Amino acid sequence: MNGYVGFSNYPNQQHRRSIKRGFNFTLMVVGESGLGKSTLINTLFESRVYPPKDGDDSSPRSGAQVAMPAGVDITSVSADIVENGVKLRLSVVDTPGFGDAVNNDEAWRPILENIESRFDAYLAQENRVNRSKIVDNRVNVLLYFIKPTGHGLRAMDIEFMKHLHTRVNLVPVIARADTLTPREVEQFKAKILADINFHGIHIFKPVSDHFDDPETISDNKAIASKIPFAVVGSEQYVVRPDGTRVRGRQYPWGVIEVENENHNDFVALRQMLLRTHMEELRDETDVSLYESYRTQKLLALGH
Ligand code: GDP
Repeated sequence: MNGYVGFSNYPNQQHRRSIKRGFNFTLMVVGESGLGKSTLINTLFESRVYPPKDGDDSSPRSGAQVAMPAGVDITSVSADIVENGVKLRLSVVDTPGFGDAVNNDEAWRPILENIESRFDAYLAQENRVNRSKIVDNRVNVLLYFIKPTGHGLRAMDIEFMKHLHTRVNLVPVIARADTLTPREVEQFKAKILADINFHGIHIFKPVSDHFDDPETISDNKAIASKIPFAVVGSEQYVVRPDGTRVRGRQYPWGVIEVENENHNDFVALRQMLLRTHMEELRDETDVSLYESYRTQKLLALGH
């Protein structure tokens, strides 16, 4: 999997033509500083977003390339990735400063505004006479990083999700899951899901319909059962008992491997985002989230 993202393998054939022309995928990450957002992005996209230093493609990227600018502004990095003749323009939008203030009551607001302004930009282009060159910067998925406290969602998390869930595909992740025991992770997941349910928050979930083949149905079930994904990211390599080097985190009692499905949910998250559900996330953004925003906006304008 080294250096290979895998989006070109996703199975949906009916979009072959648009895929050939190339497509955009925009992923936003939100969570307090220090929860491992940049580390996870680097781990997810291997060297594709932040290329390795010349002549060294096995070591982690340099700090300068990895670091996102600090502050409260919303920043974006893009990379063109070509795989099997398929071109993907991947943009990662980071939100440094989110949740770091003393009072975070309004922390959701700049992020909602950013997502809506991308809808507005798209809408403005749709209304132009020449619509052949529409640039699509709409956010297709938002990874919301939950602090591994073990105590369920905090008020800030709930407020954020309640304000954003009708505008973006929300994917909650438990950050730095290696700081909890497997039992704590299970209990924490149950509490988070109960909170999400209680507050009527809609999160993105793979769902099957009767057109799906049995394999897809079981893949969807397996992925859905992991939500909220408990993830571990690392830019370090560790040596496994059999001598192979893999991404992971070293502890006195052993290693946690990033890409081991028994150790954390990183692989399931990557599978969903980049292989099995990339197209569905784009569709959901376009057909459902954007459409409802557009309708509300036009009604408000009296059209
Ligand atoms: P960001 O501010 O959310 O972008 O966080 P960073 O990716 O910069 O990570 C902050 C610190 O947490 C760094 O020292 C990382 O090495 C460490 N870190 C990142 N991911 C993990 C993880 O999954 N587990 C643990 N234990 N530490 C992590």
